[in-house]
Amino acid sequence: NIPVITIDGPTASGKGTVAHKVADRLGFHLLDSGALYRLTALSALRRGTDLRDEHALAKVAEHLPVRFNGGHIYLGTEEVSNAIRQEEVGNTASKIAALPAVRQALYGLQLSFRETPGLVADGRDMGTVIFPGAQLKVFLTASVEARAQRRYKQLIDKGFSANMDDLLADLQARDARDTQRAVAPLVPAEGAHILDTSQMTADDAVEQVLAWYAH
Ligand code: C5P
Repeated sequence: NIPVITIDGPTASGKGTVAHKVADRLGFHLLDSGALYRLTALSALRRGTDLRDEHALAKVAEHLPVRFNGGHIYLGTEEVSNAIRQEEVGNTASKIAALPAVRQALYGLQLSFRETPGLVADGRDMGTVIFPGAQLKVFLTASVEARAQRRYKQLIDKGFSANMDDLLADLQARDARDTQRAVAPLVPAEGAHILDTSQMTADDAVEQVLAWYAH
């Protein structure tokens, strides 16, 4: 029985950073499930797929030529680690993630990340839908202001431009979509530990998750 730790939470709650560090510390594999929705969005935008065509989008998701190598993400032979972090891609990802056929198309791919010695999976529905039997489930939150600050810094560090008011509005819209959609809405999984990181560093959060896992 290969152990799984799920880390779910809203956009820019810090779950990506925390999941990455927890996986490193335990020597576990990492599933960044948001990247799969972003890759589907990027691929669809580039192919000019009709974003209202659920069936066509599911086909794109099902045939993603994706490869993860260390911290790098490839679509075919092209490295897209930075390209998928653009706001337009994130926004499109959040829209197509509401489509059941797209979620279904990515289901098996997500399960395949569970390999020895263990997996840390981050996203919105890791604990509720994909790995409901996980050994440890964490729900990371932070205030919308703290999250907007973090997203701002992330974008600037990657060389993108960013505007605080736009980011705040964007985060709120994305929260609304993630929590109100009919399939796999963002809610804490049953038995999840809730961690508010507004006043916490990523390393504090990592220690807390590791402490929960050790018990
Ligand atoms: O976490 P990240 O911001 O990279 O995810 C991009 C989008 O993909 C989110 O806005 C969310 O709507 C969607 N997503 C999802 N289920 C997941 C992970 C991400 O619906 N497990």
